[in-house]
Amino acid sequence: MVANYRAVVESNEKINAKIYKTVFRLIEPVLMEFKAGQFINILVAPNTRRSYSIGSSPAQNTKLDIYTDVTPGGPGSKFFEAAKAGDEASFIGPLGLFVYEDNENSKAIFIATGTGLAPFYSMICYALETLKSKREIKLYLGFRYEEDCFLLDELEMLEEKYSNFSFCLTLSKPSDSWRGNSGYVTKYLEQDLKEDLGEDLKSGLKQNLKDELDQDLRQNLKKELNQQIKQDSKKKELLDAYICGGQAMITSVNEFLINKGISPDNIYSEKFF
Ligand SMILES: Cc1cc2nc3c(=O)[nH]c(=O)nc-3n(C[C@H](O)[C@H](O)[C@H](O)COP(=O)(O)OP(=O)(O)OC[C@H]3O[C@@H](n4cnc5c(N)ncnc54)[C@H](O)[C@@H]3O)c2cc1C
Repeated sequence: MVANYRAVVESNEKINAKIYKTVFRLIEPVLMEFKAGQFINILVAPNTRRSYSIGSSPAQNTKLDIYTDVTPGGPGSKFFEAAKAGDEASFIGPLGLFVYEDNENSKAIFIATGTGLAPFYSMICYALETLKSKREIKLYLGFRYEEDCFLLDELEMLEEKYSNFSFCLTLSKPSDSWRGNSGYVTKYLEQDLKEDLGEDLKSGLKQNLKDELDQDLRQNLKKELNQQIKQDSKKKELLDAYICGGQAMITSVNEFLINKGISPDNIYSEKFF
């Protein structure tokens, strides 16, 4: 239930050049029941409020972890830069409908840039550690520079522990020494969806159909191609996509997924700015 909360800052740590991890311990009420993906609306200055996704799992409901990018430099950023252990804060929550729904029959893909990772970290921890979900979960994570990255050790640990979870990190503006993936998340999504949907197999079959073949073989190939197309449309229904970050990224990923035939009903997004 949505309520007014009073909390105390238990810790506030600068975890990279621009991101703070702030842990709030709830005072009144002492616990918040929320769904993975929800956010709180904090009073950051007199008459000034900002929204922040809860980055910790709902399994932990007496403390909330918030990850804030302070680059915008406005009242919200200033509030988190200045916060120190022992400070009191007040917020409204839990808010929002961008929440994780477990569905063991479908694959879940999460696409985040920057602090858009926060609600997904909550969702992924909750799905794997609390629900013990067996569904395939893949996170596509985009940052600009190496120094923007955060929560990578935690994600690597989850990847090691759970065979159904993996993540793909890519940097849009890496330094020359970067040896990992580079470019936008859609590049890696494209590759994976191509594999998932058997695009290579389909185009091979189509190519063979064009070639000179005897009648029987042609019939068999046609059957195989039709079967593959049927399987694909099932797979497209069996995929839930969650997107979080800035509006421009959300729009482009959304368009990209729809062009790949993913139903808009299976795409969920949360805009931070
Ligand atoms: C539902 C929801 C959840 C959110 N969760 C988080 C979260 O978990 N962590 C987080 O850091 N932010 C989150 N935000 C964004 C946050 O509410 C603030 O907008 C942000 O902290 C900037 O506030 P400010 O007062 O410092 O700057 P403002 O003075 O309000 O904003 C200055 C400008 O910066 C833009 N801006 C805001 N955020 C960013 C950004 N990350 N990168 C580039 N430009 C930006 C704004 O659109 C505005 O034009 C969330 C927003 C929403 C709506």
